[in-house]
Amino acid sequence: MKHKLIQSLRPSFEGLKQSLANRWPWQLRVLLYHGLYDDTCSCPPSTADPSVFQPLSKLRSELTALKAQGYTFIRPEETLSVMGKRGKYALLTFDDGYANNLLALPTLRELHVPAVFFVCPWHIENQKAFWWDVVFRELIARQVSSHDIGRRRREMKKLPWHILLAELDREFGIEASMPVSLADRPMTVNELATFAADPLVTIGNHTQHHAILPLLDEEGAQRELQTCQDSIAAMCGYRPSMLAYPNGSVNGAVAEISRSLGFKAAFTTVARPILSFGVVSPCDSRLIPRLQPA
Ligand SMILES: [Zn+2]
Repeated sequence: MKHKLIQSLRPSFEGLKQSLANRWPWQLRVLLYHGLYDDTCSCPPSTADPSVFQPLSKLRSELTALKAQGYTFIRPEETLSVMGKRGKYALLTFDDGYANNLLALPTLRELHVPAVFFVCPWHIENQKAFWWDVVFRELIARQVSSHDIGRRRREMKKLPWHILLAELDREFGIEASMPVSLADRPMTVNELATFAADPLVTIGNHTQHHAILPLLDEEGAQRELQTCQDSIAAMCGYRPSMLAYPNGSVNGAVAEISRSLGFKAAFTTVARPILSFGVVSPCDSRLIPRLQPA
């Protein structure tokens, strides 16, 4: 009975919390998107994991709504300076480096919204689809239930990247990792270089192979981040100052490596806005939370 009462109050409590958070005068909201599809001319992608794709119209309506609520969209390099500063700020981020992220550019230009795109160069240079899209596509074709696909994904996520990629090739064949559509294709080297030159676009580090960093030893984690820096520098002409941990996975050792490599800000997937009382910085610069669209 008591449990039911608490459950019935929860939606209104969540709504109240959200509404208070929206009005809080010192805050930064970091938004996290992955893949996009243009819902004015195509259906949700069926050739890639649908859980990581959002329609372009949703991105547009979220940006428009936040602007209407008085949020100022900042450039990525302003992240640390606005924390603890009076005002409502938002930062737009994208993870992984899907080619369909280029679809966002007209909207970003129209609404004057800068964004940071965290990419994995090995996927870009080798035009390899991400493992979760391959698993989804291959298991759907074998009529595996979405429950079992979810379970398989959770199991594979526990593997270090080199073991995971070897297992993917062994189970599904090397050809299965070839992208089949705009839904699962990483940007090409030329697309990334052109994209990076746009004044609204900043490129960030998402490791070389989308590596879950706490699964690696210190040397392996450092190599993933360093190789990614070198590859992005070769493709885009600069070394990123920001990092997004794949899967949001970070521990003390990884956070320390990110600091020692000179990253100014590192992002997790902990879902909360950054609220402060205007006195001290409310958040560790190596553990910045991000909100994913509902
Ligand atoms: Zn990712």
